[in-house]
Amino acid sequence: MTNATELPVLPHWIGGGPVDGTSGRTAPVYDPALGVPTKHVALASEDEVNAAVASAKAAFPVWSQTSIAKRLSVLFTFRELLNARKDELAEILTSEHGKVLSDAAGEIARGLEVVEFALGFPHLTKGEYSENVSTGIDVYSIRQPLGVVGIISPFNFPAMVPMWFFPIALAAGNTVVLKPSEKDPSASNWMAGLLKEAGLPDGAFTVLHGDKVAVDGLLHHPDIASISFVGSTPIAKYIYETASRNGKRVQALGGAKNHMLVLPDADLDLAADAAVNAGFGSAGERCMAISALIAVDTIADELVAKIKERIAGLRTGDGRRGCDMGPLVTREHRDKVASYIDIATADGATVVVDGRDVNPDGDANGFWLGPTLVDRVPTSSRVYQDEIFGPVLSVVRVHSYDEGVALINASPYGNGTAIFTNDGGAARRFQQEVTVGMIGINVPIPVPVAYYSFGGWKDSLFGDAKAYGEHGFRFFTREKAVTSRWLDPSHGGINLGFPQNR
Ligand code: NAD
Repeated sequence: MTNATELPVLPHWIGGGPVDGTSGRTAPVYDPALGVPTKHVALASEDEVNAAVASAKAAFPVWSQTSIAKRLSVLFTFRELLNARKDELAEILTSEHGKVLSDAAGEIARGLEVVEFALGFPHLTKGEYSENVSTGIDVYSIRQPLGVVGIISPFNFPAMVPMWFFPIALAAGNTVVLKPSEKDPSASNWMAGLLKEAGLPDGAFTVLHGDKVAVDGLLHHPDIASISFVGSTPIAKYIYETASRNGKRVQALGGAKNHMLVLPDADLDLAADAAVNAGFGSAGERCMAISALIAVDTIADELVAKIKERIAGLRTGDGRRGCDMGPLVTREHRDKVASYIDIATADGATVVVDGRDVNPDGDANGFWLGPTLVDRVPTSSRVYQDEIFGPVLSVVRVHSYDEGVALINASPYGNGTAIFTNDGGAARRFQQEVTVGMIGINVPIPVPVAYYSFGGWKDSLFGDAKAYGEHGFRFFTREKAVTSRWLDPSHGGINLGFPQNR
């Protein structure tokens, strides 16, 4: 299918294959390094939401009754296929998100980790068993899938974030409806095709493209058992409140403003490398990006100088040309991020490196903004307070460790944070005192491995289940406790009292 401008329109993936949109609504999908739309994506109507959920619901009895061994063999084949063809997926990510190819490869590798974790499902699903809790009575627990689960994902990790959830959901026997970001939707269809090739039954994995109409349809649909959301904080809060009100199990991961605290005894070269990698990787469009560098003032000048020197060596440009940093995802987002540089100047901060001066290795129409370093940012400034989600690194100077921790704990967000120090006692105090969900000690982007769980505190996570790891497995299953007695005539008889164990 093509639209009026003759660009192809990406279809939904329902019932095991592509299904053209019927709503008449589409959104353009850009190549951010070229600054032009390369396709459109269908935006679902409520009827299309219903069709997608109905197809996933019809597949549930088949998939949930498929043996664990067979379910896992499908996921194992998916892993093999993805490993063999990951370059294809990386190309898709770069062409719609803009991140450089090596970063796209990293995203896929971290997603694959969760597929591998999900392959350990048999171990995780073993229940408990207590023999003879009362005379002749045994109690045991089993875990079962929820049904049709909804996943709503953001633009910044179009492959990894869906993979935080669907491998575990599928391993557990659920069927999935994924609503990816409309900004970079193609990775989802590609993964759906791969799952089919791996042997997943039709309908067990559905991709429903769309905007608020599709999301609201899922939040209100009686046959959607749970919602796993990742995106910005205002939408995460809305998702959590709406889906909970509708009786669904919800995990809603929100935005972030991650701080990196550098103490005077830190290795400043290591800290400068880390600040550059974590501040400008993926053009700062990571929920675990470092956005605020909190430097104790005795080392702040030296640290800022080291970061400035490193920025001068970075190459911004088309992600297919071996550059360090790509464009931002859309023109609007680039303009919004760039506007913070004016706000910084107006608020009295010092713009050390202005990313608007960048000379990109790419098409002039690309959505470029180079790495930007702003020093002496007042904490009253929106540059410090807002989640900018772009390559703008703020430096805030403090007098002490205590002042730094107080700032981190006053932030409404609590996704990730890092401390750079060679003092083990200070690091240990830090991990105890900060009100943040994921902590790095001389590690700037502390994304937990797949067998731990990913999630923040405060406005960075609504709900009590983090993504993947043990939390993910628990989220996508529910427990039954069974109390059983096999017939034994000696235990018959009438007794209307509450059962007591003897
Ligand atoms: P977003 O909140 O704009 O969109 C996320 C999803 O919600 C998309 O699928 C989008 O279509 C949908 N959506 C957008 N507006 C909606 C509305 N009004 N009603 C219903 N649905 C709506 O986020 P984004 O810009 O795609 O992604 C960037 C954000 O995601 C950042 O804030 C980032 O910190 C956050 N993020 C958080 C994590 C985490 O683990 N905490 C991970 C990645 C990204």
